[in-house]
Amino acid sequence: MTRWLLLLWIGGTLGAQVTPPGKVPIPEDERPSKPFVWSERRLLVAPELFDAPDEWIDRSLQWADFILGTYRPALPEHPLRRAALLRLDDVLHIESAPRKELVQKWYRARMYRAIEEIERTKVTEGMRIWKLYNHGFLVRTPTVSFTFDFVPGTRQPGFAIEKEWLARLVTQSDATFISHLHGDHASQDVARLFLAQGKPVIAPEGLWKTMPEFAGKLTYPERSAKVHRIPVQGGKQVLEVVAYPGHQGATVLNNVHLVRSPEGLTAMQTGDQWNDDAPGTDFDWISHVGRQHAVDVLLPNCWTRGIARMVRGVNPKLVITGHENEMAHTVDHREDNTQTYTRLWGVGYPFVLMTWGESYGYQRVAEPRLGVDK
Ligand SMILES: [Zn+2]
Ligand SMILES: [Zn+2]
Repeated sequence: MTRWLLLLWIGGTLGAQVTPPGKVPIPEDERPSKPFVWSERRLLVAPELFDAPDEWIDRSLQWADFILGTYRPALPEHPLRRAALLRLDDVLHIESAPRKELVQKWYRARMYRAIEEIERTKVTEGMRIWKLYNHGFLVRTPTVSFTFDFVPGTRQPGFAIEKEWLARLVTQSDATFISHLHGDHASQDVARLFLAQGKPVIAPEGLWKTMPEFAGKLTYPERSAKVHRIPVQGGKQVLEVVAYPGHQGATVLNNVHLVRSPEGLTAMQTGDQWNDDAPGTDFDWISHVGRQHAVDVLLPNCWTRGIARMVRGVNPKLVITGHENEMAHTVDHREDNTQTYTRLWGVGYPFVLMTWGESYGYQRVAEPRLGVDK
C-alpha cells in the first residue's frame, strides 16, 4: 500500500461511526452524539475494544491484583486504587471479556482467595464486608455473618465458581438475602445449599414458590417498614430485618433489605432498585429510611436511579457500591467503576469502591460534635 493510500485508509477507519459490538441493538434514546462511541451511555468513559491481545489483558489483571493487594480498600482511598479499578474497567469492557479464559480464571482465583480469607477471618469489632460477584456481599460482625445476593458468577461456561466453593462460602454465612429473581442476584444452587444447612433464605414474596423444592421453605418478610426478627445459628442469635418494598422498573418486586446485627450494626443492600422519581414511587419511603434507622453501611446498585437522593434518604455512615462490571450485560450496560466515581462525585458521603473478593473493615466511630466548645 502506498503511503497516500495508507493515510486514506486510516482516515476512513477513524472517521466512520463505531458499530456496536456483538450487533447490540441501540435504543433510540441511547444513539450516540459522537462518532467515537456506539452508545451514548459510553460517552463519559474510555471507549471499549471488541477484542484485545492476551498479553495486555494478562499483564493488566496481574498489575491490578498487585496494586489492589498492596493498597487495600481504605478511607481516604489511595489514588493507585482508582488507577487499578479503571484498568479493570478497560479489561472487563472488552466485548469478548466474559468468554475469555484469562478473565474467567482471574475472577475465579479472586473468589477462591476471598473464600479462604473468610474461612480464617474472625471479626472482633465492627463489620467486615466482602464484595462478591456482582451485587453480592458477605457481612461479618463479632456475632453473625450473612450474605446478600450471593451468586456464583455468570452463566457463561467456565465463568462461575464450582459448587464445592459455593458450599464453603455458605458454611461461613448464617443466612442469605435475595433482593429479586434476576440471575445476577438470585441463585437456586446457593439457596439449595443454605436450606440444606438449615439456614434461612430471605426473599421477596412468591420467589420460586411454584417449585416443590422451595415451596414453603423460603422466608418472605412482609414488604413494608416493619422490623422482623429472624433467628439464626439455631436460635442462638437474632437478625432484625426490614424488607423495604422496592422495585426494578414497574413490575419486578425488589426487596431492599436492611439487616441489624445483635451488636446493633446495620447494613442495607438495595438489589436492582430502580424506580421513577415521582410522587407515589419508592422515593417516598427511601427518603425516610435514615429517620427510622441508623444505617451504618449502604450497599446500593451503582446505577440506581438518583443515587445521590437515595444516599441522602438512607443517610448511612458509609457507602459501598455493587453491580459494577456485570459480565452478563452487554457492554453499554456493564456499568463500570469509572461511572461509579462520577455518580458519587459530590454526593458528600464517604464511599469505598472494591472489586470482586476485596473486603473493608468498618468501625463505627463516635460522631464529632461540631460547633460545641469544650
Ligand atoms: Zn434485576
Ligand atoms: Zn442486577
